[in-house]
Amino acid sequence: MQTNLADFIKETPEGREADAILRACVHCGFCTATCPTYQLLGDELDGPRGRIYLIKQVLEGKPATRHTQLHLDRCLTCRSCESTCPSGVQYGRLADIGRRVVDDQVPRPFLQRMLRTALKETLPRKWLFSPAMKAGQLVRPLLPAALRSKVPAKQKSGAWPSTAHARKMLLLDGYVQPAMSPNINAATARVLDALGVQLVVAPRAGCCGALRHHLNDHEAARDDMRRNIDAWWPAVEAGAEAIVMTASGCGAMVKEYGHLLAHDAAYAAKAARIAELTKDLSEIMPAFEAQLATRLHGKVSRRVAYHPPCTLQHGQQIRGKVEGVLRAVGVDVTLCADSHICCGSAGTYSVLQPDMSYKLRDNKLANLLASHPEEIVSANIGCLTHLQSGTDTPVRHWIELIDGALQAQ
Ligand code: SF4
Ligand code: SF4
Repeated sequence: MQTNLADFIKETPEGREADAILRACVHCGFCTATCPTYQLLGDELDGPRGRIYLIKQVLEGKPATRHTQLHLDRCLTCRSCESTCPSGVQYGRLADIGRRVVDDQVPRPFLQRMLRTALKETLPRKWLFSPAMKAGQLVRPLLPAALRSKVPAKQKSGAWPSTAHARKMLLLDGYVQPAMSPNINAATARVLDALGVQLVVAPRAGCCGALRHHLNDHEAARDDMRRNIDAWWPAVEAGAEAIVMTASGCGAMVKEYGHLLAHDAAYAAKAARIAELTKDLSEIMPAFEAQLATRLHGKVSRRVAYHPPCTLQHGQQIRGKVEGVLRAVGVDVTLCADSHICCGSAGTYSVLQPDMSYKLRDNKLANLLASHPEEIVSANIGCLTHLQSGTDTPVRHWIELIDGALQAQ
């Protein structure tokens, strides 16, 4: 696609990146068929090719409107279009640039601004989010249904192992997941402990930055990244083998640190190293498949439906690994129809675009439940909470299934 970017952005790092991405797009439209919002709305401007065209117009100097902003807001940033694109167009990066430029030009209505500020100031702060979640869990039965669906029932996390092992890996504890589902990280630590690996949490590390980045506060997101790098660096220098992510949304973000801090002279090299060391849990576990199979085969006879999060299958291009580990220990795993399509959670999307989000959730649940699973498993806290809000079938992280089986031995 030919481009002629406007002077305000042409010679900036963002402008150069956007220009290269736009030029890669040949406008073939293959991506449109796998876009969840195009499937729901049937409007070219609510599909990737239309959004790319809108962003191109704005970057070429055409003033953005509320209409432009709305079509970009409706995008889930699920990146299904990237998986489909034969030309390797990095739509997610282009959308980040386009949204920031559009938001600079089009002020949002007061209530929208308040909601976005509340989300980006509350969710990434442990001292605000954890007590708020605990209070919500206390009064959960009394909450209106819409709010109750955002507050999972209180969960026990079980013990964190205390054995020291020579093999050590860092774990991003995060803020949102431990408050909503504290058992996921504890289960991961127990499973790896049983396999001879010690998980270490750096106390000063916190939110990965995805929340603020996707709400267009790129500078605050970079502050989150720099704080995490500083928190992890001593353990990296001490030889930590990997930085393990149990939420694929965080993993997709941390793997981008090298790119997002590439122009920060003080942090660029460290950020690239951190990105290189970052692994989703499903990239770590296949090395232990044989050990797990020997210990657990025949002892886990669950029938589960697996929902691969977009941040895993599209954002990180990781497919088949969770299913492989679960099958190795004897779990009967199914992927549902349209398993490449987003469940509608998408970070803060379920709060900002609830109608679309819940339609996608209900479609996803209908597909997942078609095989009558005993439970649904996934790999990202947002997907887990969102799906559980629409079904009585248990929904949990896949590592909890393995932990449960090891605990039962
Ligand atoms: S993003 Fe890729 S699939 Fe979509 S129109 Fe452009 S080249 Fe075609
Ligand atoms: S990121 Fe997802 S919702 Fe957005 S344009 Fe691509 S496929 Fe559609």
